[in-house]
Order: sequence, then C-alpha cells, then structure tokens
Amino acid sequence: MSDEYRPDGHREAVDQQRALAFETLAVHAGQPADPSTGAVVTPIYQTSTFAQSEVGRHQGYEYSRSGNPTRAALEACLAALEGATHGLAFSSGLAAEDAILRTLEPGDHVLIGDDVYGGTYRLLSEVHDRGGLSFTPVALGDPAAVAAAWRPSTRMVWVETPSNPLLRIADIAALAELAHGHGHGHGAKVVVDNTFATPYLQRPLDLGADVAVHSTTKYLGGHSDVVGGFAATSDPEVAGRLAFLQNATGAVPGPFDCFLVLRGVKTLAVRMERHCANAQRVVEALIAHRAVDRVYYPGLPEHAGHRTARTQMRGFGGMVSFTVRGGEARALAVARSTSIFTLAESLGAVESLIEHPHRMTHASVAGSALAVDPALLRLSVGLEAADDLVADLREALDMAGDG
Ligand code: PLP
Repeated sequence: MSDEYRPDGHREAVDQQRALAFETLAVHAGQPADPSTGAVVTPIYQTSTFAQSEVGRHQGYEYSRSGNPTRAALEACLAALEGATHGLAFSSGLAAEDAILRTLEPGDHVLIGDDVYGGTYRLLSEVHDRGGLSFTPVALGDPAAVAAAWRPSTRMVWVETPSNPLLRIADIAALAELAHGHGHGHGAKVVVDNTFATPYLQRPLDLGADVAVHSTTKYLGGHSDVVGGFAATSDPEVAGRLAFLQNATGAVPGPFDCFLVLRGVKTLAVRMERHCANAQRVVEALIAHRAVDRVYYPGLPEHAGHRTARTQMRGFGGMVSFTVRGGEARALAVARSTSIFTLAESLGAVESLIEHPHRMTHASVAGSALAVDPALLRLSVGLEAADDLVADLREALDMAGDG
C-alpha cells in the first residue's frame, strides 16, 4: 500500500522527507497542534458561524454547514487514510451514499452487488429509483454476470466488499478495469463501500476505484457512540460535485461527531488487528459446533472470494456470519441467548454484537433478489478476550440446541 499523504504544516521538516505510514497518519494527518492555542487534540469548534472583518473577509470559515475546522481535520485525516486527495464528511453513511448517487443523471444505470446493506438497497429502490436512476443487482464476483448486466447507460458500479451480511468478496481492480473501459468514452465510476474492511485492511483507490464510501458509525468511529459517513476520492470532478452537494443538501456532521470519529480513528490500526484475530478464533469455534450449518468468513480457504481477499486485503476483518441448523426459530433463540454478544444492529465497535439480518438490518430487502436466509446470524466480533467470546457463543448455541 502506498502512504503518500503528508499533513500540511505539521512537523514539516520531518514529514517532507518521506511519506508516513498508516498508523502515523491515523494519529496525525490533518491534525496539527491548534494554531491559536497549541491544543494537541483538535478542538471541537462548536460554532455555527465565524466572524468576518469585512464582507467576504474571514479566516477560511464562514458558516459550519459549508465548513468547520473540526470537520476539516476529520476530512483531511480520512482522505489521507484512503490515499485520496479529497474527502467529504456526512451526517451518516447513507447521507454520503445519497450524495454519491446524486452525482448521476436521470436515466443513468447502476450495477450493484447482489448482497449489500439493506439501507443501500432501499436508497436505490425507493429513493433514487423515483429520481430516474435504474439499477441491477448482480453477482460482482462473476465477470460474465457483470458483463451480461452491463447497459450502455451504466454509469456506476457499486461494490460492497466484503459485503453485508454474506461477506462476499469482489475483485476491485478487475471491476475498475472493466468499468473504466466501458461506456461511450467516459466509462463508469466504481464506488466501493469500504465500511467492513476499513482503509487499514483495504484501500480501494489504490486498486483503481473512483470513490470509497464509509459509514464512519462503524469501525472508524469504533465505539458505538456516533453516526457518520464519509466519501473519499482523487477525482477532482467527483470531489467538486460532492463538495457542492454536501453544502447544498446540508447532511453534514456536527463538530462533536467529527471529534469522536477523529478520536476513534487514532486507534483503528490496533483495533483492526485484534478484530481480525478474535474473528478468526470465533470462526474456528463456530465451525466446530454441531448446531452451526455454514460459516461465512473471507479468511476461510474454502470461501469463494478467499484468493481475491488475500490479494486486496491485509486481514479478513471482524465480521462473521453463519447459519444454524433448525432455521429461523433456532437463529432467534441463539440471538437472544448470548450474554457478551449484545443483540443489536450496527457493527464495528469495541463490544461484540449479534443480529438477525432477515428481521433487523436487512428487513428492507425482504421479497427482493437480495432476501436474506432467516437462519442467518451476523456477528460483529469486538475486542473482548477471545476465550470469553467463544465460551459465550458455545453456551448460546448449546442452549438453543437443547430448547
Ligand atoms: N454501508 C454499510 C456496509 C453498512 O453496514 C451501513 C449501516 O449499517 C451503511 C453503509 C449505512 O451507514 P449509516 O448507518 O451510518 O447511515
């Protein structure tokens, strides 16, 4: 991975000599000591407006929808982590997705993976569909299926890898090559939802994608205490349009939310290492349990996307899905029987969570081609001791089996 970003004005003498590694950028990028006070931590600029000495004369900020110093620090930091020249923060992952889809024109067509977050599907099928976009869910791991679904009007390929909830893997570089070669001279943009992987494990822009999008609610924030979104791109035209939309539609995060994500990101690298290690332990325990039918995890050699995951990710992540023998009733029994894994939506934080996608995160895909198996459970494996997590799951699976 290349880490080419150098934070402006911060320890310039050192930084200009060399590019900084991910861990260093996560702590420092976009966050010089506060120029007015020397505060080492970027302050929460909890202000809606900024004084002007005369009309149009100010210190770079006018109004906090258009720009705020805490948000600017977050945008610079996350852009650096994605290896992007531009980054835009939004009030939620879906707000970031909405802005990206608004860069398209009525009549444009979107190819989307056949396993994606339910809210993304709903945004396309119930919001942008009415605005004149059409879309086709397709198995993005199958080049022949992608080629068959391609239309002359296809302007965007929306890639969630690993996908939610089945942890499917798509080859970002192959899709970028395909997308950029198609179309009437200008091809299609490749957008990668990098929420599950995070830029620590996978950098879509390095692989040829045009935009990386995040729910910062998840691993980037990392502590289940904030809702936010982010889009990173090195395409100046896309960046300009997203910046316009960010201000024009106004779905911006507040300064305190930006501060929380900035703080979370400082520990992202060490958290992701432990998420991956704990997930591996959980996967081994699930495979060994008689009540478990199938385990979905890209780290498994038998996973269809394992080889691609090995080449484009530096670890397989903290998300694990599995089906139980005995169908939905047993899945629901397991979901209510864990004590360390909290039954809740969302993912990517220090505490472990369990959820039932069919009734919870993916209720909006019911009846569609993306409908989720009611026997499926999804785990967000947190940072507790692996032994405790494994014991908790074993107990819940045993109990549900006996009931
Ligand atoms: N993308 C993925 C992969 C998600 O799992 C989610 C939410 O669960 C989102 C996007 C939407 O993010 P948010 O809930 O911050 O709007």
